[in-house]
Amino acid sequence: MTTGVAVFGATGSIGESTLSVIEEHPDRFRLEVVSAHRSIDKLIKVIERFRPRHVILTDPSQEEALMERLPKWFEGSLAFGENSLIEAAKATEVDVVVAAIVGAIGLRSTYVAVSSGKRVCLANKEALVMAGGLMIAEARKSGAVLLPIDSEHNAMFQCLPETYLVGEQIAGLRQLILTCSGGPFLEWSIRDLTRVTPAQAVAHPNWSMGRKISVDSATLMNKGLELIEATHLFGVPESVIDVVIHPESMIHSLVEFVDGSILAQLSRPDMRIPIAHALGFPERLRIDVERLSLIGLSGLRFEGVRHDVFPALNLAREASAEGGDRPIILNAANEVAVEAFLNDQISFTKISQITADCLHQIAKQTVSSINDVLSLDKMCRNIAERLISERK
Ligand code: NDP
Ligand code: MG
Repeated sequence: MTTGVAVFGATGSIGESTLSVIEEHPDRFRLEVVSAHRSIDKLIKVIERFRPRHVILTDPSQEEALMERLPKWFEGSLAFGENSLIEAAKATEVDVVVAAIVGAIGLRSTYVAVSSGKRVCLANKEALVMAGGLMIAEARKSGAVLLPIDSEHNAMFQCLPETYLVGEQIAGLRQLILTCSGGPFLEWSIRDLTRVTPAQAVAHPNWSMGRKISVDSATLMNKGLELIEATHLFGVPESVIDVVIHPESMIHSLVEFVDGSILAQLSRPDMRIPIAHALGFPERLRIDVERLSLIGLSGLRFEGVRHDVFPALNLAREASAEGGDRPIILNAANEVAVEAFLNDQISFTKISQITADCLHQIAKQTVSSINDVLSLDKMCRNIAERLISERK
């Protein structure tokens, strides 16, 4: 019996790494579903190489372009539009959903996969930032197994007992220590940061990733989103999580216990490693990755975060401490501001300023369902867009 896998966001960086892990284990996994948004060239390559049974294109305006290029031999099914993800997340042939769509748009399909009791290998951290409480409660109800792909959270998870379930409290925990590469501008001054170009911001020194998460890594908002993600996955308040700059990205995070022990997970920075862990758990899958040489690790560095230069992390920490609607606003404003930066509409340092302004301007709201989360997300996007156009 093989495990049926759906890869939502198969044309992205995480999607690609996931497909390469699945390809190494044909006896174990069958590729049931892949989704792409509008990257037809990449999707055709995925179809030709991996032969999925079901293909989803979420941007329906690209339907004709896909039909023109689809190989004649393709016998699988096709579906178009956002709702096809929801159907696929519930499908009985799908045992595992790899949630690798970028941003808030990935929330609904991830949530439905959790409600349907699937194993959900979660890369889409924005979904957890926006609706972590609802998602963990839903996993409890449905019996879904939620496993982190984000390398830091996967590292922490690997440092916990095999019986640990995501969202539970960790026995004997003193602190979670999130490591952070510091991104491409680790030692830059605030003045220099105002002149950063999109090309510089997406050039991460250690990881090759999608554009949005690369900018988040450069502002350190990625670490802020990860801090919130960790509060939900490990059932702790933000005050129990420390962030340490570790430029080499070899130690992916650490867990400190009350007896003075610290456990860490080390590997080369290669996302196939946490992906293989989540897909295979509790078994270890053999994958073709370069081994880590301990002799080469003698120069590992650790330092504190320069919060005056990178305010995004503390914005996220405050949003997490306040809870409720704040992380939703933080995430929506950041997504809009990052997009505006990538389109040359605002400078790099304005990304955090727009996010802070949205958090100040939007009055507290009660959020108790996914629909509430999505309508607040929409409202906040409108406000962020208005702030950006006023500043142009
Ligand atoms: P990419 O930008 O490389 O890929 C994004 C994927 O989402 C693509 O398949 C894209 O399709 C699809 N997509 C984009 N917009 C939409 C939309 N509106 N509706 C449906 N699908 C859409 O991102 P990454 O792979 O880098 O990141 C994916 C997620 O994983 C993010 O949440 C990120 O934070 C997280 N993550 C990523 C890591 C990494 O190393 N890359 C590490 C840890 C977490 P198309 O190509 O057709 O546009
Ligand atoms: Mg990460």
